Amino acid sequence: MKKGKKLYEGKAKIIYATTDKSLVIQYFKDDATAFNNQKKTTIEGKGVLNNRISEHILSNLSQIGIKNHLVKRLNMREQIIKLVEIIPIEFIVRNVATGSITKRLGIEDGTILKEPLIEYCLKDDKLGDPLIAEEHIYAFDWATKKEIEKVKKMILRINDFMIGMFRGVGIKLIDFKLEFGRFKSNGKSEVILADEISPDTCRLWDSITDKKLDKDRFRKDLGDLIPAYTEVAKRLGILHEQSNVSAVNITKLSSVKRKRK
Ligand code: 5GP
Repeated sequence: MKKGKKLYEGKAKIIYATTDKSLVIQYFKDDATAFNNQKKTTIEGKGVLNNRISEHILSNLSQIGIKNHLVKRLNMREQIIKLVEIIPIEFIVRNVATGSITKRLGIEDGTILKEPLIEYCLKDDKLGDPLIAEEHIYAFDWATKKEIEKVKKMILRINDFMIGMFRGVGIKLIDFKLEFGRFKSNGKSEVILADEISPDTCRLWDSITDKKLDKDRFRKDLGDLIPAYTEVAKRLGILHEQSNVSAVNITKLSSVKRKRK
């Protein structure tokens, strides 16, 4: 299977065609954006860490029966994934109120929600990903009722699994964003989990100190994003605990290896 032409470039990832029509390559960039692209920078090593963390989470989800687009990680920055038609909705799952919901509804930051809350946002950068009601999804045919019922069931399982996985390593899963897509094979269409799950798409707080270990370090100018993402990877057992190798060094090491070949 060979890498083909670029099909799509997003804010944090690039999708390339392959010689297999049902598969594409997902490349994780180091670019960081926030507030609908108004704040932008490049953070060396971020893509490498997100590739590894997302691979870890999606393969664990596969093992509990959550079908998703990951086929396998290819290298430090790339994964082979199934080509899906993305449902144009960002599914936001909240366990603790923080971020946009606190401003929108005047809820106190850090309020623990009685039950997980699912919010829907239309995936449209030009409109700033506006919050929508479930009824909008049906009114404008963005997805069918059957698809959304299936997605909601998957979301609750994903949330339960991820809360437990992170709790086990001393991290609170505050909220996160998921995307789903339609995978078409043998004339059938099946909704599966797509995109990435990483500290770019989740809010992760240290269980004891509430230290932010996610993209809020960039959004709120807290600094030390790479050490925070590295900490998440180490706690999940992806990077060795003793290892002091930073993601930046990992990037350099991988390019040295490639040159030597
Ligand atoms: P909020 O609505 O509070 O800004 O975000 C809620 C959660 O969804 C956070 O974990 C945030 O990282 C994630 N999220 C919402 N929209 C986006 C987006 O467009 N890109 C990324 N990477 N994450 C998002």
